[in-house]
Amino acid sequence: MRKLLWVLVFPVSGAFAQDSAIIRRMADDILTNGQAYNNLRILCKQAPARLSGSANAAKAVALTEAMLREAGADTVYLQPCMVPHWERGAKEEAYAVTGNGRVSLAVCALGNSVGTPATGLTASVVEVRSFDELDKLGKKGLSGRIVFLNYPMNQTLVNTFSAYSDAVRYRVMGPSAAAKYGAVGFILRTLSTSLNDFPHTGTTRYDSTMPKIPAFAVSTNDAERLHVLVAKGAVKSIFMKASCRMLPDAPSYNVIGEIRGSEHPDEVVTVGGHLDSWDLAEGAQDDGAGIVQSIEVIRALKAQGIRPARTVRAVMFMNEENGGRGGKAYSDNAVADGLQYIFGLESDNGGFTPRGFSIGAKGAQLKAFTDWAPLFEPYGVYEWRVGGGGADVDPLVRAKAVVGELLPDSQRYFDFHHAGNDVFEAVNRRELLLGAVNMTALIYLVSKYGI
Ligand SMILES: [Zn+2]
Repeated sequence: MRKLLWVLVFPVSGAFAQDSAIIRRMADDILTNGQAYNNLRILCKQAPARLSGSANAAKAVALTEAMLREAGADTVYLQPCMVPHWERGAKEEAYAVTGNGRVSLAVCALGNSVGTPATGLTASVVEVRSFDELDKLGKKGLSGRIVFLNYPMNQTLVNTFSAYSDAVRYRVMGPSAAAKYGAVGFILRTLSTSLNDFPHTGTTRYDSTMPKIPAFAVSTNDAERLHVLVAKGAVKSIFMKASCRMLPDAPSYNVIGEIRGSEHPDEVVTVGGHLDSWDLAEGAQDDGAGIVQSIEVIRALKAQGIRPARTVRAVMFMNEENGGRGGKAYSDNAVADGLQYIFGLESDNGGFTPRGFSIGAKGAQLKAFTDWAPLFEPYGVYEWRVGGGGADVDPLVRAKAVVGELLPDSQRYFDFHHAGNDVFEAVNRRELLLGAVNMTALIYLVSKYGI
């Protein structure tokens, strides 16, 4: 309570007093009139499962183009990029055959996986916890078998993204690491910090020198069940069936909405999220939230009649999930178009309560941000971490931009990430809008002062 009074009685003084008042007005507007939550409902319900190359991804392009116009962007345009086009096909199936019958497993194919033969695939199973164990088992222990890679995310890491970074190598490289020794199928324990029945998909990458084997994720609950059965020696074989396939690359787009800078129109401040999503649900936390927050930045600046000194661009990046082609197209363009890209901010860590920002800068550039820190404290942001942006804005470093990302609370993100429960209803309206408040404040300050 004392802290609150302090903020009320002594608002930020000196050079930033006027900015403090403007940010307050923008925050009040976003928290009462913000469109981000409504836009998220429209995006999730009208264009769920926005996997690159799909009809719903194309629908999402058209929807967000309209939202950016509605938000008041001066110019809205599409930036072409070719994207990988992977299709899941029919619902996957998997079960363990035991002495007592079948134990069905909640599975989904990993993104980019090949399918099984049309009649499915049956083989004995071997459980491992690491790449080391795969190497020890070698051809003798793995040839002709299905590998069950049961590596739980590290619960002791308080930032769940650290636990994800640690575990994600098993999803990306696990199938080829198993195929190297002749394994015929791969089942990954879902990358989630919670125990539930949702298998989580996500990209896997085949090593082109190894045979491509079908790769699934199994829910954490069923991973625990399977572990107990395997440990008892009760599993005779595993059956896997999937019809997923990779199609030729397809044309798609980044969607860009811009407010032209009044004093330095050739200096560009970018804010964005990714428009594509995995196909098992609505892509609400990942990354519908970042999309609608970025559109909200445009709406909120326009609503206050702010004409930024530098050009502000909201970018809906395509294909973050299984290729990063949109981020690459945007940065390729940035390197070549003769404009100055001074900052790129990304929101792709869920629409949860904002806690801070990660900024890829040091020295005087970093100080520009930390000098502003008191302006963010009324809106719950206290952390300024030296880091970087996300997958879509990091390539902007090639164009000499400083990059950063919003850091929301991470505790619940991996309950939803790439899974069937990542739906509109999983996002809290106030948490989402508060993220947009902090993003708008940061974009406002960078567009006014530069870095
Ligand atoms: Zn994402």
